[in-house]
This record gives sequence, structure tokens and C-alpha cells, in this order.
Amino acid sequence: MPSTSPLFHFDDRYARDLPGLYEPWRAAVVPTPSLLILNRALAAELGLDADALTTPEAVDILVGNRVVEGSTPLAMAYAGHQFGGYSPRLGDGRALLLGEIVDAQGHRRDLHLKGSGRTPFARGGDGKAAVGPMLREYVVSEAMHALGIPTTRALAVVATGEEIARDTLLPGAVLVRVAASHLRVGSFEFAAAFDAERGNLDLLRRLADHAIARHAPVAAHAAHPYLALYEHVVAAQAALVARWMLVGFVHGVMNTDNTTISGETIDYGPCAFMDRHDPATVFSSIDRQGRYAYGNQPRILQWNLARLAEALLPLFDENEERAVAAATPVLEGFGARYLAAWQSGMRAKLGLRPETAGTDDDAPDPTESELAATLVDGVPHLLATQQVDHTLFFRRLSGAARGNDAAVRSLFADPDAFDAWAPGWRALLPKTAHERLAVADAMDRVNPIYIPRNQRVEHALAAAAEGRLEPLHALLGAITQPFDERAGLEEYAEPAPAGSDPYRTFCGT
Ligand code: AMP
Ligand code: MG
Repeated sequence: MPSTSPLFHFDDRYARDLPGLYEPWRAAVVPTPSLLILNRALAAELGLDADALTTPEAVDILVGNRVVEGSTPLAMAYAGHQFGGYSPRLGDGRALLLGEIVDAQGHRRDLHLKGSGRTPFARGGDGKAAVGPMLREYVVSEAMHALGIPTTRALAVVATGEEIARDTLLPGAVLVRVAASHLRVGSFEFAAAFDAERGNLDLLRRLADHAIARHAPVAAHAAHPYLALYEHVVAAQAALVARWMLVGFVHGVMNTDNTTISGETIDYGPCAFMDRHDPATVFSSIDRQGRYAYGNQPRILQWNLARLAEALLPLFDENEERAVAAATPVLEGFGARYLAAWQSGMRAKLGLRPETAGTDDDAPDPTESELAATLVDGVPHLLATQQVDHTLFFRRLSGAARGNDAAVRSLFADPDAFDAWAPGWRALLPKTAHERLAVADAMDRVNPIYIPRNQRVEHALAAAAEGRLEPLHALLGAITQPFDERAGLEEYAEPAPAGSDPYRTFCGT
């Protein structure tokens, strides 16, 4: 029987709305759960008492050992295209949705466990997760959040006290994840196939209505609510992938089951931040073809959104031809949406005025506008050919806006290339020194100095595996205030060591 707890007030709307799209399930009981890390700021956001979450009773709930009233733990069913190939039945193999809580702002958030034991979707997997990868998700998702990028969050990592078998025996852990929801493109693919077998639209319609209520309530009042939902997802995902590109984030495993309906980044597996700018950057050891390389991410996202459209077609129109005709312009609109988001983000990074800035008198003239567009579009090629560190280029460029080129110039393989590029950029900055200083400060507010550099993350995780959590907390201290340069944090702003081997991450751990 579920017990009552004053700590958590769960709801189970997913469970109530979406029978057919989950299996009720319980977490594997773990021997000696202990809290490795707790996100106090997030706890407060959720209206949870952080001190109370550290008690053994609360940790038992967080790890799934104890189920409280209002919570219906379940493993979600979903399908997915993985590396382009369709898998009709993926689902939460090692994860559970505990339920939803309504946060301090009134937003409904999922509380979800990863590493909580085998479920009916586990196939060959052991249902477990190791401490290292769960802390890694904690670090990278919190870095993304601090960068202002929509993402799932990490509330806690709980060590289970078990050893799990990977290449070697590793300590096990459960990640407690918070998300606007865990609906994915793959959820819709599953529902569409489920209904197709039964010759109805029952599950797909319930899922779409649930998604509208949670993520696009205005779509309910549109002339075509399901098409409006689709448009909402296309817009949210175009904006999201633009943010990834601007910050140099490589997701690593952009399968349709890892593409959300909410527009949040989800499933931090083989992800990492790029050091030197290179569109071919791949970190995942299993992505041998480079399908999910940095430079491919926008078009892969659009491909995933095409799979979403296919799943939704029967809701757009009973006539397939008309349904396709309705979906096509929305899907094709992805490119323009992405480009607009990327270009305006890139302008801000470079300290250029937004395209629509100013009053009529003050509006940039057409030539300035064209020059700025050309400059913006040329930046990736410049950085790639000059092997420039992506993060440090933008951060140090503010120094050049203040009149000191040396730091950014030194990042270029051939510093003369910076000298050739800089005058065109400088010509687009304001004319007075006072205004240029204001621009430099604004650049520092959008260009991070501290990102989770691969070597720093590895160092922190290796120490944590030996029971020393201090480097992890120090790293989190740096990356959760990514824009504020602080004395003593120099090591977190260093680029990858020159000549280091390409960084590799391993999936499914
Ligand atoms: P991911 O790459 O984390 O998105 O996972 C892809 C699929 O594999 C999902 O259905 C997961 O639930 C499942 N999966 C990954 N690792 C395990 C594991 N250790 N045990 C069971 N299922 C797993
Ligand atoms: Mg996944």
C-alpha cells in the first residue's frame, strides 16, 4: 500500500490519461541507498524542503524503494528511430516515471528515475546505471540549464550500494530527473502503430490531447489543434537545436526517442561540448558514421520531426493526401525558424545589433544589415578552418571589443586570419568607446567562460568514483554561473590540451 508523505504531493495524470502507453512497475529495491548529491536550488523550485530530502525516509522515496500516495510508478512505452532504423518497442528499460509534481510556479513537472531496475522494456539490459554516467548527466544538464538552454534537470543522484557489471564492476546509482514531461517523438510513433493495429485513433488522440494540455494549451483553441501542436513542437525544437549549435553542444544520440515534445534537451549519454570548432565533431564511440556529428544536428532534428509528422498524419486529416499537404509547410518551416534563431543568437554572441533593433530612425541600414548577415554566416567556416576553440573565441572576442585583440587572436592557427577578419566585424560595432564597452559587457552575458570541459568532467567523475566529491562540487560551482568570470577558476576556462586524443564517450552505460 502506498504510504502518505508530507514531503511529496504527487499527481499521476500521465497514468490516468494514457493507459496503453505504459506498464505499471516498481523500482528494484536497493540495499543501501545513500544520497550522493542533491540539487537544493531545484528542490526549492519544486517547492520541496531540501533538508527533509536528505533523510533516509526521503531517500527511500527518491530511489523508488517506497511508493507514496498519488504516485503511480510506471515504465513508459515508446518506439523510436535509432540511428535511422525503426524499433517498434523501446520504452523505459531502466527508468520509471514516479509521477508529477506541480512546482512553485504552478508548472507540472515529471519526477523520473533512471537506473531503477529492469522493466518489461529492458530487453537484454540489466536495468541499472553506474554512478559515473548519472553524475555526468547531472553535471551536463545543470550546465545547460545555467546556459539558459531548455533541458531536463537533475534533482539528485543516489548511490544504490550495489555493484553493477560493465567492463568492470562499477558502483550503481539512480538519477532523479525532473522534466516538463517525458513525451517524445517516439511516444507518438508508438501510439500511431498501436492504433494502426486496432484500426482506431484512440491512443494517438489521447496522447496528442495530453501533450496539448501540458505543452501547447493555446493549440486547443486553434482551428486545427493537432496541426497547431505539431507547429509548436517544430518551433520549440528549432529554437532548441539553434541553442545547441550556438554553444557548441553535441547531443550524440539524437534518436527519435530522445527528441522531446516539450522542446527540452533530454538523455545525456554520449554528449559533450566541442572544443575546437569542427562540424564533424563526434564524441560517441558508437556513432561511427558521424550521423549525429555537431554539424548534422539541425537536419537530423528536422528528420526526426518528419517522423513526428508521419505519426500525427491521421489526426491532421482523414485523407492522407490532405494530411501530408497540411504538415509539409510546417515541417519545411523548420529551416527558416532554425536559421532565424541561430542568426539572432550569433549576432548577440558577436556583439552585433539585433536585426530589428531600434526605431525607424535608428534602424540599421540595408548595407549594414547585409554586411552583418554575411559576417554571421561566415563565422563557422572561419572557426573551423582556423581550428579555434568555440567557447573561447566568443568569450575572448569581448576583449577585442574593449580594444585588446591579443587573447582572441592567439586562438587562431594563423593569427593573421583574425587580423583579416576583425576589421569587418569592428566596422559593425558602435562608434564610441563607451558604447563598445557596453557591447563587450553584453557579449560576456551571452558567451560563457565556463562550460563542462571534457577533461574537467572526467577528472571530477574519477574523483567521485573514489569517494571524493569535492572536485565535482567545484566544477558545478563554476559551470552553474557560466558567464561570471571569477578568480581561482582559471582551470575551468582552459581549452583542451593541445594534441590530446579525440575525446570519446560511451553510450548505454
Ligand atoms: P538511451 O540510449 O539511454 O536513450 O536508451 C535507449 C533504450 O535502451 C531505452 O529503451 C532504454 O530504456 C534502454 N536501456 C539503456 N540502458 C539500459 C539498461 N542498462 N537496461 C535496460 N534498458 C536499457
Ligand atoms: Mg533515451
